[in-house]
Amino acid sequence: MTIRAGLLGLGKIARDQHLPAIEKTAGIELVAVASRNAQGEGVNNYPDLDAMLAGEGDLDAVILCQPPQVRYAAARQALLAGKHVFLEKPPGATVSEVDALVTLAKAQGVTLYASWHSRYAAAVAQAKAWIAERAVRSIDIQWREDVRHWHPGQPWIWEPGGFGVFDPGINALSILTEIVPEPVTLLSAELDVPENKQAPIGAALRMATASGAAIDAVFDWRQTGPQTWDIAVETEQGSLLLSEGGNMLRLDGEVQMKAPDEEYPAMYRRFVDLVAGGAIDVDLAPLRLVADAFLCGRHCPTATFED
Ligand code: NAP
Repeated sequence: MTIRAGLLGLGKIARDQHLPAIEKTAGIELVAVASRNAQGEGVNNYPDLDAMLAGEGDLDAVILCQPPQVRYAAARQALLAGKHVFLEKPPGATVSEVDALVTLAKAQGVTLYASWHSRYAAAVAQAKAWIAERAVRSIDIQWREDVRHWHPGQPWIWEPGGFGVFDPGINALSILTEIVPEPVTLLSAELDVPENKQAPIGAALRMATASGAAIDAVFDWRQTGPQTWDIAVETEQGSLLLSEGGNMLRLDGEVQMKAPDEEYPAMYRRFVDLVAGGAIDVDLAPLRLVADAFLCGRHCPTATFED
């Protein structure tokens, strides 16, 4: 069976990644787009989800690419209509709403997929296997990028529920919680919130593994010049560096792998398999750590920021 999918929110990530990834994935085809201000090529177009569900009687799945603040209502509506649902990251603006979606998906007997694209970066699986055989001493995460370059014209990202610097930071946390075989807990956090914004531009997190290894993370949106997406792991038996967002791996300083970004095609293959197996894949670990940082973090007002 080929999944007939409709995509909601034709914006940056939908155009950059979802459309080309769907195109190259067997078992799924895009038949419709619902977006208020954009039109997809070669598909039926609708202004919103209501119209798409009404117009596409035999739609199997809905892919949600809007900002997180509006994801819950759309996901709920799609699940209630009996559709399989693919959630962009983060899967929601709150933990409780994603929990509610899982309950609803189970009741409806449909697939719910909370995608974490960074977990599909080329070197993540190898890093996970290497760490599984070693005792972790400490982990250092540096996720530094230029918000003006990556998020121009996206006011939602600075609003409540937009996550601020945790929008990229949650990608690091999704890799962390994938490669570390123990639960990770948050110890403390500092959140730099510009005086004219509702969400942090910088964050420093102290975390720990269940067996006590220290994990430090710095997320910063004020980085100009070279961008940094690194996770360094020190173990009793050597060191590992995942860089380029998980697409490059060094072990004890030696490059083991450097591969192009193929995260979204891998996610669509996963989605096709989940639908075929009638399964749900929702891991809330990255979102819980972000929620904990907002719950426990010390708020440090910083200079106003013009994006
Ligand atoms: P975006 O381009 O700003 O938004 C996507 C689309 O959603 C917009 O084009 C808009 O389409 C619709 N939309 C925007 N605000 C809305 C609102 N308040 N209510 C309803 N619809 C709204 O954002 P994006 O960069 O694609 O990010 C979308 C999601 O993908 C986020 O959760 C983000 O974390 C995730 N993501 C982004 C990237 C990236 O590189 N940008 C990478 C990975 C994941 P219409 O106006 O046409 O309806």
